[in-house]
Amino acid sequence: MSTLGEILAAGERTYSFEFFPPRTETGERTLWHAVRRVEALAPTFVSVTYGAGGSSRDRTVRMTERIAAETTLRPVAHLTAVGHSAAELRRIIGQYASAGVRDVLALRGDPPGDPRGPWIPHPRGFRHAGELVRLVRELGDFGVGVAAFPERHPRSPDWESDIRHFTAKCRAGADYAITQMFFHVEDYLRLRDRLTAAGCTTPVIPAIMPATDVRQIARFAELSGAAFPPDLARRLEAARDDPAESRRIGVEHATEMALRLLAEEAPGLHYITLNRSTATLEIHRNLGLPRGGPRTAPAAA
Ligand code: FAD
Repeated sequence: MSTLGEILAAGERTYSFEFFPPRTETGERTLWHAVRRVEALAPTFVSVTYGAGGSSRDRTVRMTERIAAETTLRPVAHLTAVGHSAAELRRIIGQYASAGVRDVLALRGDPPGDPRGPWIPHPRGFRHAGELVRLVRELGDFGVGVAAFPERHPRSPDWESDIRHFTAKCRAGADYAITQMFFHVEDYLRLRDRLTAAGCTTPVIPAIMPATDVRQIARFAELSGAAFPPDLARRLEAARDDPAESRRIGVEHATEMALRLLAEEAPGLHYITLNRSTATLEIHRNLGLPRGGPRTAPAAA
């Protein structure tokens, strides 16, 4: 099987869906329903986020292994340096390798409890994602992805240092990057221009997150720092008590973004599903792409 790096280097687009490990049995059933619906579309990969605490982390590992064992999907395991020594990270990566998981998204992670709090590395762990990229590379024949930030990392003091550190982690061995959620296509395009100007050619896959409920907006801003378009916020607010209309508005906005990104030659699309596949599958279908994803950009709507 080709690596994601090889697929992207060959100019093929990737289509991917992101899930998180659920806490309850009901959540688990919803998740697997979503995974099976997504599987029918033959996306390039699905990814599973890595939580801050022990039990959620175990669930990530189990879920990623199960996707590898029981589905036709390629799982990408998110992994963070939060609270882990280098030895523990080695063990987890080894466990993935034994389960046939060959792709890791190497992340620093955020301080547990308060994502905006000060970052305190584990005393025998890593300070930055680049160190984790190096470790994963050292440990075997893995595909490695990293995080990118269209509005720059909320803790980066300026663009210059943000781009410098990003390009350093790409040079450490990243095959591709996936962005934080964002709501203005221009932010993605400007990031790409900055990276090109810095000589960084690592493909950056934009994340698509449909905002289908006005109540999510404050949470998004807190988690990602992404600026939310005031016009979209107003339309969602007006539809606050009408779930069908809210969903229609969120899906429409995300579809417009996806079409524009494809027309601008983004190397792929990464859908953040929140474990509910309906909205993201609707967006993907709106793009009018063949099963398995297209290899050329459709015309912008
Ligand atoms: P880094 O690349 O280490 O960057 C963090 C900050 O440090 C930046 O300001 C950077 O400029 C700076 N920096 C980097 N290297 C250096 C250096 N050598 N010297 C000085 N400064 C440096 N979090 C989770 O907990 N679980 C997940 O599953 C998860 N999945 C994610 C998926 C995606 C696609 C994205 C975009 C983010 C995800 N996150 C996840 C959030 C992520 O962990 C946080 O945003 C975190 O704050 C940054 O992680 P990073 O890997 O970009 O860190």
